[in-house]
Parts: sequence; C-alpha cells; structure tokens
Amino acid sequence: MDRKRSAALICAAVLAAALPGPAGTRPAGGPAEVELEGRPLVALTFDDGPREATTGPLLDGLALREVPATFFLVGSRIGGNEDLVRRMAAEGHQIGVHTFDHVALKGLSRRDFDLQVGKTRAVLADLLGEGEFWLRPPYGLIDQAAAGWAGGPLILWSVDPEDWKDHDVDRIVAAVVEHVSDGDIILMHDIFASSEEAALRVVDALLAKGYCFVTVEQLMEQRGAAPEAGARCRAFPPAKDRGGNF
Ligand SMILES: [Zn+2]
Repeated sequence: MDRKRSAALICAAVLAAALPGPAGTRPAGGPAEVELEGRPLVALTFDDGPREATTGPLLDGLALREVPATFFLVGSRIGGNEDLVRRMAAEGHQIGVHTFDHVALKGLSRRDFDLQVGKTRAVLADLLGEGEFWLRPPYGLIDQAAAGWAGGPLILWSVDPEDWKDHDVDRIVAAVVEHVSDGDIILMHDIFASSEEAALRVVDALLAKGYCFVTVEQLMEQRGAAPEAGARCRAFPPAKDRGGNF
C-alpha cells in the first residue's frame, strides 16, 4: 500500500470512529487508533452538478481514495441523474442545494426563493429522504431577506482556484495546494473534466501533506461550530488560528 492510500484509509477510519455517518462509509475493522486532533482538515466542495460525464468519474476517484466531499446541486440537473445523486449520498458525501436554476439569491420574492431553494430541497428529500440540504448561494451572493429564509447556514468558501476560467489543470492544482490551510473550504465545479482531474490531484497532494478530507458538516462539527441559520460560513480554522472569520 502506498503512502497516499494509507493516509486516506487512516483518515477515513478516524472519521468513522469520530463522527456519525452512513454505515456504507465506515471501513471494516475496529475503532481507529490515530487521533484526529491536530490533523489539518479540509473540505472539498463542488457546485453546479450533477453531470454524469464528469460527476461520475469524480465519484469513482473519490471512492478509490475514500475521501468525502460536499456537493451543492442545481435542482434542474437532478432529473435524469437520480442514480448519481443516490450514489453521492450512499458513499458518504454531503449534499446541499445551489438553487433550482442557478440564480442569484438577490431581490427575490419569498415565492421565487421557495421555487429555487425549497423546490430543490423537496426534490432531494423525495430522492434521499428528509435532510437539511444546506445552501450555497450561486456566485456567493445573497441578500438579507434570502439569508433569513435560508433555513440553515450559508456555505461559502475560503479557497477559490477559479477552475471555470481556463481549465488549466496544473494552474488549478497549484492555486489550491499553494493556498490551502487547516479548516479551509475549497470551491470547485464538478461539471468540467479539467476540474475533476484537478480535484483528484489536489486530493492526492493534500493527503501526502497529511490533510484529512471531511464534509462541511464534519468540519463544523470537528471545530465546534454550530450550524446557525443564515450564518455565512467560509472556513473553520482551529481555535489557535481563529481570526474571527466565523
Ligand atoms: Zn454555481
């Protein structure tokens, strides 16, 4: 077993012991002996999917590495991709909403907000059962009214490699690996083949540096941050590094 694979397995085992999660995500064997405390944590997040051609291979790569991620789905893209979404949930990934039609959550009426966020949550609940399905606002934009209606935390990000811009895999990988630190939330998009390739290279590079990948929910839990409705969440550094950014 090589080092990267072994780091991923240790990490997965530690989280399985430390956190609640679907039974399918728990590796066989007894409780982990390695302490999670002190390990740098990072949450990899993907917006704008699902898209079979790219999300499928990404899930394959994450499964191989036993690394969980968080997917913020566009409601209008779920139809026809139900199996992909079920697979995400079954493999221990966190699922959130990114509106139904990928619209900015500014200046909307309550009815239009519900048609974007509530409707997507209803589609996910039909598919997966009841859940909270936290919100990531498209473009990171949200006004006070919409924040008040969000019904959960607003998950933003702290590392943005702008993977949509030039699809240059080397540049995207460097933009993440050179800027990431403990507690960061990385923003990527699972609708591009270049992003899928870059994300898996990022995972390998950060596992080799000792990082442990977690979902956003796991990250908050590990850092003792309560998910408050309407709160903007960008990163969850360890207490000693906290500069008041959450
Ligand atoms: Zn988006």
